[in-house]
Amino acid sequence: MSEEQRPIAVVSDLSVFVQRQQLGEATSQIQYVSQGHCLIIGEVAQALSAGERFSEHGFTVVQIDPEITRTDKRLTDDGIAVFSVPALSLNGYLGAYRAVVPMAAGEELDLGVSVYRETGLFDVVLDLSSQAVMPVRLAPFGYVHATTAEAIDEAVDSLNDMRGEFEKPRYFNYNESTCAHSRSELDGCNQCIDICTAEAITPSGEGVSVDPFLCQGCGSCATVCPSGAMSYAYPRVSDALERSRKSLRENQANTIILHTEEVQSLVDEAASREGVLSLLVEEVSAFGPDYWLSMLAGAVQHILVVTDSPADDPGRQALDAQLQWVGPLLAELGIDEVPVELLASTALDARLQQLAVSRDPASPLENVKAQSFSTHNEKRQTLRLALDALSEQLRPAEPIVKLPSGAPFGQIHVDTTACTLCMACVSTCPAKALQDGQDTPALRFVEANCLQCGLCESACPESAISLEARYIWDSVAARKVETLHEETPFHCVRCHTPFATQSMIDNMTQKLAGHWMFQNDKAVRRLRLCGDCRVRDMFEEDAAGIDVHNL
Ligand code: SF4
Ligand code: SF4
Repeated sequence: MSEEQRPIAVVSDLSVFVQRQQLGEATSQIQYVSQGHCLIIGEVAQALSAGERFSEHGFTVVQIDPEITRTDKRLTDDGIAVFSVPALSLNGYLGAYRAVVPMAAGEELDLGVSVYRETGLFDVVLDLSSQAVMPVRLAPFGYVHATTAEAIDEAVDSLNDMRGEFEKPRYFNYNESTCAHSRSELDGCNQCIDICTAEAITPSGEGVSVDPFLCQGCGSCATVCPSGAMSYAYPRVSDALERSRKSLRENQANTIILHTEEVQSLVDEAASREGVLSLLVEEVSAFGPDYWLSMLAGAVQHILVVTDSPADDPGRQALDAQLQWVGPLLAELGIDEVPVELLASTALDARLQQLAVSRDPASPLENVKAQSFSTHNEKRQTLRLALDALSEQLRPAEPIVKLPSGAPFGQIHVDTTACTLCMACVSTCPAKALQDGQDTPALRFVEANCLQCGLCESACPESAISLEARYIWDSVAARKVETLHEETPFHCVRCHTPFATQSMIDNMTQKLAGHWMFQNDKAVRRLRLCGDCRVRDMFEEDAAGIDVHNL
């Protein structure tokens, strides 16, 4: 990092900086370059007054008035460009905001180009309108919507400081090959797109695309991702696990506090208690069931996740949603009270005091012997290994536990009376949970691979598939290839090569029974021929003087 480059979250206190080293190295850095050119959206007099403090770097004012029909531009005596526009569309991020006015006949006026010919972009945006022009819950760096005098003052201060080069970590890794977003133009998993408050994730072909400039690293996408295609990189879960395990070996703790920098001083005090460890992370919402369950398998008995986010915060909701299916799994192991708690920072101390005096020697977690395993940062493998480690010690009551819909494990049901073994589901399954029978017409299934993404259900033309979320404790049984439906092959009536199933032929014959092309025996018989014989048959008839195109 050059002297001019600054981290996006400026770290001023050296002790905090030392703590930040715990977060580990980011996979790569994202760089923003800003000259401080500001666009102020709002009523002209108010915007010009707020802009006085930007005069050093230059600013532009735009007032949106839906009543006017044409865009107007004028210069103030100080040379400030002031636009009046009927509508405005804004997108971008620090150093690269594009503001355009839609015009007649699909034309548009690019305000940045009209003011800064060399870049055509604004670096920061101060939005004073009553309704935010960029109504994103987590706005990109360099955009502030402010409506009160105090908020405007604060916004001017922070935006004024955003000039120069800035860096932040690239927070995520994404592996499209395991993503279950879409196949064959069918909609599958949208969990990361739905949870991202920065609107940084968008569909892209069969997968998704993350704009690293918009991503602010909350990590909820990685927590909700059922396949592990999206993973957190700052730090990776496997690195956080290694660090936590090392501390556990050195400190004999049974309680771990997961927290961010904002509550560092509160946690420092609380974590000075015996048996308590803390782990500083960039965002607690990035660490979900794979981390929690591995820690429980490492003989941790309480995981306190410190979050002051409100209940409707998507990051918090991502964690709550995971607890919905982790709870029933742990209950099956005799752990009735989920040992993962989301706590407000002010409640931390009292909760630790309570835990210190209410230790339950009969708790199943008291008997867990620490197990560690190497995970290679594979989410599903980590989950499976952690649950194996726990279930080997705390025998589950039943071999299979039912989970709420939305859990990332489960089976599919196939209505064998409706299934024609067309294999549409096999070709859409992103996880190789569904497989064909190779030489025989059969539908096979490996439950351990199933993400419950629902793509097979959407792909099935006979509506023969339904999903059931559940977990099989026995890993060998879960990885077994099971046959869901099988038929004897149908042989070509001419060359006797197997090419379909009886139900496929019956189905096709029934569907085409009313079609004008299949009103004679020869045409119907052709449905029972393999592809090669069908072509041969048509040419033979053609050669015999029959018009094949009318068959
Ligand atoms: S599988 Fe993961 S990365 Fe793919 S859409 Fe779902 S949550 Fe996003
Ligand atoms: S079997 Fe169906 S629900 Fe399971 S991963 Fe494959 S397509 Fe998704």
